[in-house]
Amino acid sequence: MPPRDYYNVLGVSRTASQDEIKKTYRKLARRWHPDLNPGREDVVERFRDITEAYDTLSDPEKRARYDRMGPLYTDDGRPPRPDEVSEVVGSMLGNLFRRKRPAKGEDLRFTLSVTLEEVAVGVEKEIVVPRKVRCRKCGGDGADGDDARVKCAPCNGTGSSQGPRLFRTTCYHCEGRGFTVSRVCSRCDGQGRVSVDEAIRVRVPAGVATGQKLRLAGRGDEARDAAEPGDLFVITSVAEHPLFRRRADDLLAEVPITFADAVVGSDIEVPTLEGTTRIRVPPGTTHGRIFRLSGRALPRLGSATRGDLHYQVAIEVPTGLDEAQRLALAAWGGALPDSTHPQRAEYARLLGARR
Ligand SMILES: [Zn+2]
Ligand SMILES: [Zn+2]
Repeated sequence: MPPRDYYNVLGVSRTASQDEIKKTYRKLARRWHPDLNPGREDVVERFRDITEAYDTLSDPEKRARYDRMGPLYTDDGRPPRPDEVSEVVGSMLGNLFRRKRPAKGEDLRFTLSVTLEEVAVGVEKEIVVPRKVRCRKCGGDGADGDDARVKCAPCNGTGSSQGPRLFRTTCYHCEGRGFTVSRVCSRCDGQGRVSVDEAIRVRVPAGVATGQKLRLAGRGDEARDAAEPGDLFVITSVAEHPLFRRRADDLLAEVPITFADAVVGSDIEVPTLEGTTRIRVPPGTTHGRIFRLSGRALPRLGSATRGDLHYQVAIEVPTGLDEAQRLALAAWGGALPDSTHPQRAEYARLLGARR
């Protein structure tokens, strides 16, 4: 940042006498000294600015140099570095050519949780967003009535520091507004804006994923003045599902089946996004086999096609059998010929060759 306009910081004219500068500084220091305003961070910064301005303007030699160099002034008299020159030149050009536009209100972010079922069809939800809106009582200027607005003396109400055109900066005292407030608005405490919880309806399109950004133009914070409000960005977060895992538009569900179902085959009830359906598990189904229902999972964002549902069967080994159940199972196993377990038969042959 190029140095501030020191005359503007002290609020004196460029022709002020040394005596006037000294008196003004003493008055400001009495008001803004950190020892007299304990615990106020803004005071520390302000006091530093005032002191920096005074250090330069109270020294006739430094003041003459400052008057000559303006934003390129350096306290120790060294020539400005190239990066400092280009920064100053850039900001001068900016001041000359940029139309002064009031700052837009801040953008807001809100994380919205949606279920897979909602992702499947899209959903409209009401969210409550804390946002700042312009104070209706004072219209945003923070003043308690028209007579509480006082023309800013250091800039004579212009909002920018006086003096040579290229040296001008935004006024230190009124931050460019051209007035200061003598009595603050009771509703916004002089802030010009108040916080409200606003209910906003959000349309979440089908097929969104976690991290999708939905922009609601103009639903962010309002600015203090007539500038445009910011935008609201709703970030979707898709909740974990107890049955489905998502891979892009496809969904995978693990389906536990019994050993008997796997051996003799069965119709098994499985979940869908809309409810349940049944799939045919044929006799001799192996552990980990995947069955597919095509086009029944999530829609692709902005398209009519849908992903596939995948069901992976997991044979659950029974536990907690009683004596009779265990004996029955052992008898059943013992009665089966080797040909019913070809892998085990091959394994036994390989083992036999090693004996
Ligand atoms: Zn107000
Ligand atoms: Zn001002």
